[in-house]
Amino acid sequence: MATKATKKLTPMIRQYLDIKSQYPGHILLFRMGDFYEMFFEDAEIAAKILDIALTSRSHKSAGERIPLCGIPYHALSSYLAKLVRAGRKVAICDQIEDPRQAKGIVKRAVTRVVTPGLVIGSDDLLDEKDNNYLMGVYLADDEYGFCLCDLSTGEFRIGQHESLEDLADEWVRAEPAEIILPEGLQDDPRVAQLQQALPGRFLTFQSPDTFDLDDARARLTEQFPRFEPNDELAPAMCAAGATLIYLQMTQKRELAHLREIIVDRSGAFLVLDEAAKRNLELTANLRDGGRRDSLLAVLDETRTAMGARLLKRWITYPLVQPEPIRGRLDAVAELVQRRADREALGEAMETIHDLERLAGKIGLASCNARDLVSLRVSLARLPDLQAALAVFESPLLRELVESLDLLEDIRGLLDNAIDDEPPITVREGSLIKSGYDEQVDELRHIARSGRGIIAEIEQRERQRTGVTSLKVRYNNVFGYYIEVSKANLHLVPEDYTRKQTLVNAERFITPELKEIEEKILTAQDKLSELEYDLFTQVRQIVADQVERIQTSARVVAQVDVLACFALLAETRGYCKPTVGPDDTLDIKDGRHPVVEVAFKEERFVPNDAFLDIGDNRLLLITGPNMAGKSTYIRQVALIVVMAQMGSFVPASSCHVGVVDRVFTRVGASDNLARGQSTFMVEMTETADILRNASRRSLIVLDEVGRGTSTFDGLSIAWAVAEFIRDEQHVGARTMFATHYHELTDMARTLPGVRNFNISVKEWNDDILFLRKIVPGATSRSYGIQVARLAGLPPQVIDRAKEVLANLEAVEYDEVGHARIAKRQSEEGKPKTGQLQLFAGAPSPVEEEIRAMDLDGLTPLEALRALVRLQEKCKK
Ligand code: ADP
Repeated sequence: MATKATKKLTPMIRQYLDIKSQYPGHILLFRMGDFYEMFFEDAEIAAKILDIALTSRSHKSAGERIPLCGIPYHALSSYLAKLVRAGRKVAICDQIEDPRQAKGIVKRAVTRVVTPGLVIGSDDLLDEKDNNYLMGVYLADDEYGFCLCDLSTGEFRIGQHESLEDLADEWVRAEPAEIILPEGLQDDPRVAQLQQALPGRFLTFQSPDTFDLDDARARLTEQFPRFEPNDELAPAMCAAGATLIYLQMTQKRELAHLREIIVDRSGAFLVLDEAAKRNLELTANLRDGGRRDSLLAVLDETRTAMGARLLKRWITYPLVQPEPIRGRLDAVAELVQRRADREALGEAMETIHDLERLAGKIGLASCNARDLVSLRVSLARLPDLQAALAVFESPLLRELVESLDLLEDIRGLLDNAIDDEPPITVREGSLIKSGYDEQVDELRHIARSGRGIIAEIEQRERQRTGVTSLKVRYNNVFGYYIEVSKANLHLVPEDYTRKQTLVNAERFITPELKEIEEKILTAQDKLSELEYDLFTQVRQIVADQVERIQTSARVVAQVDVLACFALLAETRGYCKPTVGPDDTLDIKDGRHPVVEVAFKEERFVPNDAFLDIGDNRLLLITGPNMAGKSTYIRQVALIVVMAQMGSFVPASSCHVGVVDRVFTRVGASDNLARGQSTFMVEMTETADILRNASRRSLIVLDEVGRGTSTFDGLSIAWAVAEFIRDEQHVGARTMFATHYHELTDMARTLPGVRNFNISVKEWNDDILFLRKIVPGATSRSYGIQVARLAGLPPQVIDRAKEVLANLEAVEYDEVGHARIAKRQSEEGKPKTGQLQLFAGAPSPVEEEIRAMDLDGLTPLEALRALVRLQEKCKK
């Protein structure tokens, strides 16, 4: 930068540098007339990101050229979106005085800072179905506070956790766009751990002073008058205080829509960690991370943006207390029963716009008149919604109808004041309805009659001059003018004054035209100004009531999600689950909600599940690859999540003794897309379960131990299963899908373990998948049959069978090596190997093998024998 030459710079560039120095690391958008300009490195960076021309401006006094690029002010939101998406912090610097009144250089100041977590409704950056959270995080010893704020809607939640892992789970579930942390923790291992849970987030480090508790207490009570500070919430308050300071520093305006603090008590929600959220594909699929084929996508039949966002929240934060879950389920049941009334609700919601984000824009004074029209149109639907809701009797729906505020005063005001079709801009008039304000009506009359007079002049001048193509037009440079084409110039009268020559025409003015213009323009200017003032007054009145809009928005969102559940229950044949504080999970004819929907021709085969923390604690599910093991165990977990959200479930009957956490782990080879050392990931995740699961948890293990050699994998799988089964350690309800059929031996020796398999039918060499879960263990893994189904060439299949037969016969050659490679065609050939020298004297390995009673060996004992033999060979 041109710091050396600063003294020689023009006042404007000096002003720029001065403001820029207060926003290091930000791209500064510097308003100049109709453009936002960027200079120096900002221009170089932004021109690339925005794909716009980088120019330069000579700067004589500085003796150098200054790189420069600019964007038109009215296109700000789309360029802003690109900069923010590219990970840039942007400071928007506006002219804060009327340039016409400015003495010397126009005063400018930053009016707003935009980062990923500070996006608001009027920016082009938001997905209407997603919240955009800014998360403040406070880290102390054993106390982790957080605050989640969606600036675009005004949602402000706080909470705290006792472990870093729980905080990481919160971080993963909320998917914040930006996280504020105390400065100095850049290299803190705890921050690294959080980042690992959800990489690629935008981190903002802020002075540790902003996390001060006393300051937080004062700020929070000022912003949220109903909030009662409570020392037990100290970590959460510290996080909230820092968040609020960040918002105040960057928004530089009243945050009128932040009115309520919601305190999330830990333990109120079913905990779903990163692995569970990912493996169960709750909100994104494993394939490409998109929304398609996720649980959210197949359940989303909501009609409003607010409903869609709440559905996502309910999926990621299911409940654990049976009472509130039952409240939701009863409401859904009634909505299923009263179909016609439910449809009336749906119709009422159809044209309700995003009230939460409208409330946000109004609260931040960033709304235009069209937003107020959207609000009016939406409010106009509330009486119908209320009428449709009033017939329902379930307690939750009654509660909702009672808290629905019709906001008739606001609607009346908007109806009277705001034009039905206002423009996007708010400074150019046409905002206020006729009849609302006398002065507006009067000025409008003058402006309009002025236009009539202009039309008359045009008519008259055409007649007077005989130029029928003569036009009276207006432009910003010289106001009203008369345009005459070149061919008719000889007809132009004396009293016309020439103003401009174009290729085909010339432009003139007359004293009369100028006089009328003065009248019209002053009326129009005054009108625009007055309309803007009235608009801001109306906006302020609405902003003062924004909390009422938010309350009704929340009612709409809940009704929308409950009605969506009812619709799914009806169209997909879901049943009402029962929930209780017990430890039983009993599902009849359960289906996988996502796979089922994808099935068009083939029928999805329903399956039962029964788990408790007694005799049916650990279900070992075996069966060949592709039999349907993964689908089955996931469907059980998904049914639990759905039930605890308050939704009906894909089953013919279902009881859920509530679960406190769902854990899922998927064997490494099923998880290659992650691109990490997959076995290490698998083991880290498994360790996490063993540490954190409680007896109330539900554990879903899919092929754990697959990412390493067979013996290692089997041993790990065995030990993990044993540990989980043991009530001294975990003892939680667990499903363990595995192709290690050797594990099924565990059911014989350990209480609480049950074998199930997914049945297949064999005939000749082929297998048919029946998809039905049945008690008992599989004796084989059918890998070769599956390989054949998949189209491996017959020679390969035949050879694989040979090798398998060798392995199953536990054959070894004289050196103690498994005779995997033996071919039938090699039988009878002379034996090879060094030990041939001592032919006739059997090796100890050979002796042991001969002595084995193969019929009396369990598969596991056989494996152990194999290990022992191998050890002997090494000696
Ligand atoms: P595994 O885990 O045993 O290898 P998957 O669970 O991946 O098997 O299932 C393989 C395929 O079988 C799935 O893609 C699905 O199309 C089908 N499938 C699974 N369960 C069922 C079912 N209950 N009814 C019908 N098809 C099923």
